[in-house]
Amino acid sequence: MKGYLNCKIYNSDATAFLVKGNIIEKIGTDEQIQKELSELDECIDLNGMFVLPGFIDSHMHLLNLGQYLNNVMLSECSTTEEVLEKVKNHMESHDSAWIVGRGYHGDLNKQQLDAISTEKPIALTRVCGHVMTVNSKALELAGITEDTAVDGGQILFDSGRVEENAIYLIHEKMPEPDDDTLKEYIRIGAQYCNAHGITTIGSDDFLSIVKDPKRILNIFEQMSYQEKLTVRVNEQCEFENINQFAEFLDDGYTMDVGNDFFRIGPLKLITDGSLGARTAAMVNPYHDDPSTKGGMTMSDEDIEMFVKLANKFNMSTICHAIGDEAVDKVLAVFQDTVLEGNPLHHGLVHCQIMRQSQIDQVLKQKLSCYIQSQFIDYDASIYKERVGSVLAKTSYPFKTLYEGTLVSNGSDSPVELNDPLLGIQLACTRKSIHFGGEMSQKECLDLDQAIATFTQNGAKQLFMDDRLGYIKEGYIADFVVLEEDITEKDLSDVANTRVMMTVMDGKVVFER
Ligand SMILES: [Zn+2]
Repeated sequence: MKGYLNCKIYNSDATAFLVKGNIIEKIGTDEQIQKELSELDECIDLNGMFVLPGFIDSHMHLLNLGQYLNNVMLSECSTTEEVLEKVKNHMESHDSAWIVGRGYHGDLNKQQLDAISTEKPIALTRVCGHVMTVNSKALELAGITEDTAVDGGQILFDSGRVEENAIYLIHEKMPEPDDDTLKEYIRIGAQYCNAHGITTIGSDDFLSIVKDPKRILNIFEQMSYQEKLTVRVNEQCEFENINQFAEFLDDGYTMDVGNDFFRIGPLKLITDGSLGARTAAMVNPYHDDPSTKGGMTMSDEDIEMFVKLANKFNMSTICHAIGDEAVDKVLAVFQDTVLEGNPLHHGLVHCQIMRQSQIDQVLKQKLSCYIQSQFIDYDASIYKERVGSVLAKTSYPFKTLYEGTLVSNGSDSPVELNDPLLGIQLACTRKSIHFGGEMSQKECLDLDQAIATFTQNGAKQLFMDDRLGYIKEGYIADFVVLEEDITEKDLSDVANTRVMMTVMDGKVVFER
């Protein structure tokens, strides 16, 4: 048993609690808890710090996050020397076949990278993503010579600079990560989550990196049996085509198969693109670029076929739908397929550009909403220009949705790196911190609501609210310790609160 003493517990007058194994056994005063402890038990003084249920990030991509963190991140380097130093250090501390990095500013050349290694291929992508600099070994492996030419791309052989479509020549030669590498991505991604107070995630991984659902499934299952997952993973299952999905169902998988560490979640469909790139499908052309209205990435028939098949197997479907055209298409299918009260939690991921009539249907059918309030930081600076002021009025309608249906929150990491405290702040203020601009203040959540989107509502979304999402006797001991009580802070300062400790399943998975 472990006693946690001298703390403030969210929504409770208690100052201490007792954890037995992975369960919160008792909550009470320091005195009451101390009485239960024997000399052999561990006793932890939390110095008046603030305890919340472990955060639940209801939509992200764990493998992609791990891969992103595993590559050399160069965006914070301000000089070429720093970039080269970082690449060199990375090579000395990692045993990967390729050294892959991203985010450098300015220019690099082949000679600088050859000075680091002529044995190991090095490929660094510039911050813009359109230019890559590689060393001689990478050019050799990719079969690039002085005479190589590529449609829609350019190669400057002498400087090792590869542009646009020519970048694929390099990508094709990078080895597909082996299982150990994928496990390492999962491990570091999970650690990153833990460092931000997250203990449970909804994660979409089947088509990321290796595009082999069975292989990813095996890896997660192994890691869960070996108790190597430090976050609980609810897999949001994405497939390349309906046959692949049918095969998965044939193998006996469906929603809720698994254990409390790795469980099959909903079917995930991606129906359009993004607002930033103007690829989200809109009914009318973009306000700031009338030449396009984005586009659907799936046909109406496919959406319907997937949803109906999922329904047959009691599996819910969650749809990435950002533009109002995509929302229309998805709602048209849900109109005829979702049962009254939405017992399976079919839902929409993102809930960004919406018209009032669409909001009305979501509320009427009680569709689940997976929002990302962290997006407000950037989107507040562009969304009005993108969609015009009329549609902007009913977009990102988080409070309206919260009050009428189930709303859980997340990051879509690595699109935004997981930071629930930032997500809570932005849900409450709707004011961009880094890019300027704000969104309609009528749709601000209050602090308790914002916390709920990252705790109890996330648990409910995953059908785990009978054991997760609360600090309660009999509940699983997943919690986060913050240095300060965020209910006493200015809302615009919540994101500056530090996570001091994260406990998952009774075990400390992060400590500052
Ligand atoms: Zn996503």
